[in-house]
Amino acid sequence: MTLTQRFATTCIHAGQHPDPYSGAIMTPVYFTSTYIQEGLNQHRGFEYARTRNPTRDAVEGNLAALEGADFGIAFASGLAATQAILELLSSGDHLVLGDNVYGGTFRLVDRIMTRFGLTYTQVDTSDLAALRGAIQANTKLVMLETPTNPMLGLTDIAAVRSLLGEMGTAALLAVDNTFATPFNQRPLELGADLVFHSTTKYLNGHSDSIGGVAVTNSADLSERLHFIQNAAGAILSPMESWLILRGTKTLHLRMERHNANALEIARWLEARTDLKAVYYPGLESHPQHDLGKRQMQGFSGIVSFDTGDAQRTRRMASAFKIFALAESLGGVESLICHPVSMTHGSVPEADRARLGITDSLLRLSVGVEDVHDLLEDLERALKA
Ligand SMILES: *Cc1c(COP(=O)(O)O)cnc(C)c1O
Repeated sequence: MTLTQRFATTCIHAGQHPDPYSGAIMTPVYFTSTYIQEGLNQHRGFEYARTRNPTRDAVEGNLAALEGADFGIAFASGLAATQAILELLSSGDHLVLGDNVYGGTFRLVDRIMTRFGLTYTQVDTSDLAALRGAIQANTKLVMLETPTNPMLGLTDIAAVRSLLGEMGTAALLAVDNTFATPFNQRPLELGADLVFHSTTKYLNGHSDSIGGVAVTNSADLSERLHFIQNAAGAILSPMESWLILRGTKTLHLRMERHNANALEIARWLEARTDLKAVYYPGLESHPQHDLGKRQMQGFSGIVSFDTGDAQRTRRMASAFKIFALAESLGGVESLICHPVSMTHGSVPEADRARLGITDSLLRLSVGVEDVHDLLEDLERALKA
């Protein structure tokens, strides 16, 4: 890009060009499986739609630009993007994985990738000494999330980069930026080699599609991921590509409101005397608030809190009128989740206890509604 665009402009324009046929300002959904070739070996760069699709090209360019990356590779889901990154590794390689990563990421590594000779160590990546101890001679990838789900713990991405440099390891650093979004945090600028997302969450933002993306500044990694995308075939469909393009046009506006609503709700919850704990990196009481301020421009829309009373939490879960009881997060509408019985049921009880995922914990995905209505809804549920 020759123009240095600011974030909001990038959201709306990056990766997209008016349709050359009609001048249509919006990128069409190219529902096609193949492309006519003028002669043998004569085509316009499009041969078969698993390999390339113009709508997918546009969303890949858009999502890459949002993270300040040169290359984007889009997949059928966040987990398909994660798997493609794991497929950069080979049998005999070792992976270091954050100890509080998305449950599906853990399941993919533990139940599938290990069957192909990959070994892994889980570690609290916010603890640099522990991370140092987990790196082996054959470690090829460090994969982490910050903030984590649902405890909102942070990892210092720049410090992890320095540690890997200092140790002289060839391990790549891949950061799942789904929770923060590039509006709030850009891991490539902090030294990550790869950033990946479940676009299902904030990037699409409207709870109406499943998708994933990996972005990088490395031409070599981009080429290898494009090869995997085409060879393994877990591609993002043209319709989903279009929906995400529609979503990112308002990413900056939505994130501003998610950030503001969540901060107000976290402060309101913290001021109450009947709760055991409130977890939100934007609160001064968060143990890593200073790191959050250095590494993030805002703290996103996820707030967790612990009532300390499992019975009360269970009563609350079904007492909301606006917050909907549902898995997932990052949409315009507010959701409530009980991690123990919904998203984290498969995490062994000892691990849950160590991480602080108790029976009395609730996780809010704060939407972009009027915050007063959300506070009234919380008040009502807390009284239930
Ligand atoms: C949802 C999620 C994923 C998985 O994405 P899907 O689109 O559901 O496959 C990965 N990481 C995080 C942090 C998520 O929230």
